[in-house]
Amino acid sequence: MNAIVAPLLSWGVPQLRDLPWRNTRDRWAVLVSEVMAQQTQVARVVPKWHQFMQRWPTPRDCAQAPLADVLRLWSGLGYPRRCRNLHLAAGAVVEQHNGVVPSDLASLLSLPGVGPYTARAVLAFADSADVAVVDTNVARVLARVAGRPLSARASQELADATLPTGRAWEWNQVIIDFGAQMCTARAPQCHVCPIAGQCRTYAASGDGWNVAADPARATALTSKPQARFDGSDRQARGRLLRVLAERGVRVGEVAKVMRLGDDTSRAARLVQSLVRDGLVVVDGEWCRLP
Ligand code: SF4
Repeated sequence: MNAIVAPLLSWGVPQLRDLPWRNTRDRWAVLVSEVMAQQTQVARVVPKWHQFMQRWPTPRDCAQAPLADVLRLWSGLGYPRRCRNLHLAAGAVVEQHNGVVPSDLASLLSLPGVGPYTARAVLAFADSADVAVVDTNVARVLARVAGRPLSARASQELADATLPTGRAWEWNQVIIDFGAQMCTARAPQCHVCPIAGQCRTYAASGDGWNVAADPARATALTSKPQARFDGSDRQARGRLLRVLAERGVRVGEVAKVMRLGDDTSRAARLVQSLVRDGLVVVDGEWCRLP
């Protein structure tokens, strides 16, 4: 597996995109970027990240802000539970780590909403620590090169074993970009791939890409097809949160705001789910942000 390191670094380092969080080594700034970029396109994240860091440059600033303000800024990025968790994580950093995002894996993993990928990303991208990150892109690349489906643990072990010591920052950025741009989920560009010679899946694919034989499909951490967004609960919840970012909404108006017609029982169920997630409060006959 180590044979993929040199060709991938040669391929990727010259074309690393100049993203704003790649120019900082501040753990809080990196954490914010990683949480925002989960399941959201980079182009939408960049302006929000700038606004966020300008307003809340430290965990303490964020923790002191009302959650409603943070949710308002977050509006448009989707998956607002991430926002609530980030706000909770800021509070935990203030209470338990004197306002400084910790620099060890166990402490990072104990923060709300911070999983194995995000914790390692903070260490690799802020501290250039020798840790390997595994997101869906990396898991897909590793499984294909290895030529077999991988469990979450096997992916992490393989990533750890492949990591070039002292080059964690570049390596992790490059292998993520490689998965996102070349070894993509649906249309890997094997004919121009710099590591085709080391790839077992490519070697076994003969003349053409065999989707059915793609080991990434049965690999634990790779992305699975998303449920339809149109007509989904997620869409309806998002509509309400967008309006709540501007004004309060009467309980009796919620179904209309969610565009659910006269399905008031579904609207009530979704409001309850938002309340449970800590994203909405119901105050008498009004819904509002917490
Ligand atoms: S040869 Fe194809 S499947 Fe293998 S790593 Fe390259 S792009 Fe991915």
